[in-house]
Amino acid sequence: IDGVDKAYRQMNGTNLRVLNNVDFETEENDFLCILGPSGCGKSTLLNIIAQLEEPSSGSVSIGSEASPTDVCFVFQEPRLLDWRTVRENIEFALDGKDIPKDEWDERIETYLELVGLDDFANEYPRSLSGGMQQRVSIARAMAVEPDVILMDEPFSSVDEITARNLRSDLVDIWKEQKRTIVFVTHDAIEATFLANRVLVMSHRPSNVLVHEKIDIDRPRSVDDPELVELAEEFV
Ligand code: ATP
Ligand code: MG
Repeated sequence: IDGVDKAYRQMNGTNLRVLNNVDFETEENDFLCILGPSGCGKSTLLNIIAQLEEPSSGSVSIGSEASPTDVCFVFQEPRLLDWRTVRENIEFALDGKDIPKDEWDERIETYLELVGLDDFANEYPRSLSGGMQQRVSIARAMAVEPDVILMDEPFSSVDEITARNLRSDLVDIWKEQKRTIVFVTHDAIEATFLANRVLVMSHRPSNVLVHEKIDIDRPRSVDDPELVELAEEFV
């Protein structure tokens, strides 16, 4: 991320400066959490990283030009295709990424089981709760097994007990498979639990970024005082 600025034109004709010279890089296989208060521009930054939005100036590059990088996005809200079943939603993503058909069933099974929805493969999204739909979105992104997963507060609509399990699973997957994860959150404990690198964003328009690398083998219990203490350093 190289000197990224972003301003939105407002109704009254003035510009709202949201990102101000945002500049950082992260390494392959990092679990990077972007931590910052509500409204500071986290989603805007993630959307720019995903190339869903254009920066006003500056640039973003992922991987090298020689080998294109697969990127999947998990949004703050589910965004499933309503007219397709859970299975078909995941198949649609796998098809889009040219995953061989003979791998589909196993991947669908593995990742639906991971999010606790293996019995719901043939249901339509409207018959699931918001939190369940979000878990399908997470399974769908994971099933693609992309090089980079971008996640925007993916657990905000998931109940706390499920979210706890999903956080642990996400860390396990990240440790086990080669994966770069960029995860946006406003929750310092969540960031500290998950990440091996935390980027702290302050309120716009200054967007001061503090970049911290943390020990990946530290305790990972949310009740551990050491973790709580570490999280406090970020706020
Ligand atoms: P939250 O934690 O609530 O999700 P955030 O850190 O993700 O917040 P953004 O959604 O990036 O924050 O928004 C940052 C600022 O930019 C807010 O003031 C928001 O109103 C404004 N903003 C975001 N998108 C647009 C847009 N398309 N047009 C105008 N203003 C926008
Ligand atoms: Mg947001």
